[in-house]
Formats: sequence, C-alpha cells, structure tokens
Amino acid sequence: PGKDSVKVAVRVRPFNKRERDAGSQCVITMSSTTTTIQDPRNQQSPRTFTFDYAYWSHSGFTRSKDGLYVPEEPASRYADQGHVFLDLGQGILDNALQGYNATLLAYGQTGSGKSYSMVGYGPNKGLVPTLCERLFQALRTNQDSRQCQIFFSMLEIYNEQVIDLLSRGSGSRPPGGLKVREEQQRGFYVEGLRRVPCESSAQVAQLMEQGTRTRTTASTHMNASSSRSHMLIVLQLKQIFSKENITKQSNINLVDLAGSERQRSLGSEADRLKEGTAINLSLTTLGNVISSLADVALGKRVVHIPYRYSVLTKLLQSALGGNSRTIMIATLSPADICYEESMSTLRFAERAKRIQNRAVVNEGPTE
Ligand code: ADP
Ligand code: MG
Repeated sequence: PGKDSVKVAVRVRPFNKRERDAGSQCVITMSSTTTTIQDPRNQQSPRTFTFDYAYWSHSGFTRSKDGLYVPEEPASRYADQGHVFLDLGQGILDNALQGYNATLLAYGQTGSGKSYSMVGYGPNKGLVPTLCERLFQALRTNQDSRQCQIFFSMLEIYNEQVIDLLSRGSGSRPPGGLKVREEQQRGFYVEGLRRVPCESSAQVAQLMEQGTRTRTTASTHMNASSSRSHMLIVLQLKQIFSKENITKQSNINLVDLAGSERQRSLGSEADRLKEGTAINLSLTTLGNVISSLADVALGKRVVHIPYRYSVLTKLLQSALGGNSRTIMIATLSPADICYEESMSTLRFAERAKRIQNRAVVNEGPTE
C-alpha cells in the first residue's frame, strides 16, 4: 500500500469580544498555504509555516489607524464552513465510501474554534453534521445495488475515563468509565459502547444533540470544564455489494480534542505527580506519539511509539501511523495575547504533518 501523509489545515478565527475590548492586534497572516506569525514583542522575527490548507476566517474586522474595528475589504476572503467542508469533509466522505478509514482531529487552545469547525453553532454547521448529511445523500442517490448500514457512537475521555455520551441515564454509568480492550484483529476498542444504527442525518443530529447535552451534564457533575475532555464520534459505515459478494467497512473518527493550553502544565513528571490525577495524560501522550512518528518519518531510530500510555492514543492508534487517512485542523486565535499558544499549536501541527499512514481499502467477501 502507498503512504499517505497526515494532511494538516490551520484556521484562524475572528477576534472575540475579550480580544477586541483589549485592543488586540492580529499576529497571524496567511497567503495561499503559508501562515506567518509575528512575535508581538519582537518585530524582527516572523515565523512562516506551510500546511496543506490555511483558512483565513478572521472575518470581517480589521483595526484602522485610529484604533477602531472596521469591516475588512474585501470581506469575501473569509473562509466559511462550506469552504472548509469542501476541502476537508468531502475528501473524508469520498474515502469512507471507497472503504478507507478516515480521521479528523481538531487541535488548539480553548476558544480557538475547534468545536466551531467540527460541530458548528446554529446555522453555521461544522464538518460533522455536514458530513453526515452528505453521507446519507450519497447513499440515497447512488445507483448501484449496495446495501448500507451506518452506526453512530459518541464518547468522551475525561481524566482517562471513557464516558458513553449516548448511554441512557447517567445512573447506569459504570464507576471508572468503560473499559478499553484490545483484540488481535480489531485493535483497541471500548467495551460496551453504544452503537446506534442510523437511517437519516436527522437521527444523527438528534443523537449529537443528546450526546452534547450529556457531555455538559457529565462535566458539571465532575466539576470539570468540557475544555479538559476529548470528544470522539465514530461513524461506522458498512457497505454490502451483493452482486460482487464484497463487503466494505470503514470507520470515521471525528475528534474534538481538549484545549491544548493545559498540556504544558503537565510537562514534567513532577508536575504530573503533583496533580495527582492525569487530567490530560491523553493529550500529553498524543503529543509524544506524534513526535515519535514525526521522528520515524525523518529516519530517526525510534524504539517504540507510546500508544499504550493513554486512552486517546489507544483509540486513535490506527489513525496515527496506521490504516487511516487522517486530517488535522489546527485552530488559532488571531490575537497578540495568544501568541505563545498559537506558536505552540503551529509547532504541533508541523510535527503532525510529517506522519506517514498506510491506508488500505477494508474489503472482504460478504459473509
Ligand atoms: P473551542 O472549541 O476551540 O474551545 P469554539 O469553537 O467554541 O472554541 O469557538 C469559540 C468562539 O469563537 C465561539 O463563539 C465561536 O462561535 C467563535 N468562532 C470560532 N471559530 C470561528 C470562525 N471560524 N468563524 C467565526 N466564529 C468563530
Ligand atoms: Mg470546544
């Protein structure tokens, strides 16, 4: 099988109210596939990064000479949700229909636009709902004799516990969360996770709403912010081509990661012990896995990839360096006050783009 590198996109959002009130300067510029970031305390050193896609969604407003925010000309530079879907979502959909596994990860500091890009708010539907709509549309209009089944799961990883966001009644939730198990063929999976067969995108939308509600209640219950947890949606697509006697199966992983800003507070072993719990062990390990895989791609000798050290990296093992076509969207605040975080996000994204996967069509005779 050929090698597929992880595709990386970056997206910069508009100023939020807090940034506007603080009179923030925009430190990010984009041109074609390059993103440049300027250190606000050092005018000499802009850094430039190149990714597969760069989305200027800094919208409508720019600061005029007298310090006022005025509409940007031309406003049409704004990369909207539809634009991002056509580049990233459509490819995932096409891959899944061909029988490839696909993964989409959103990485960035809290408030930088991960959920906006993945799920969306109100009429600004993000990648996941649009992907589901187009998936059902494609299945309805296809002319061949394939039969399809779609299963939807939604879980949260918080403090290394797996919470099923679709399980009914939080009272039945096992203490300590669901178990992650490993099987030779299947790899890592969550035991007892609810898989809901879906017939329409309206049904998926309803499940997503239910899952999001559970996530909010669960995090209030645990006195945690959802910015510290990872949300993972798995869409399983099974296509049976009865004439050819072939079945194709693909898993689509859609991941809204915890805010990246906490990662460094768990930097050293000592800090980690001090925290008592490893709230972000999964994010730290994700960083380590990505760094190791980037080293492998650079030809360095790597003894082992630490997938087993966290729940998130177990569940994403095939997405990272394995049998999946994977895309990361790294989201950025435009503001000078977020320079350090944005710089760290860009460095992370740069390592991620080196990763080589080997995706194959998952097909076999229909049983
Ligand atoms: P995160 O999930 O990374 O914590 P959100 O996606 O919730 O952040 O975004 C924070 C705020 O910024 C939200 O109010 C959202 O509507 C707004 N926002 C984020 N990205 C964009 C964008 N590309 N265009 C317009 N508004 C955005
Ligand atoms: Mg969010």
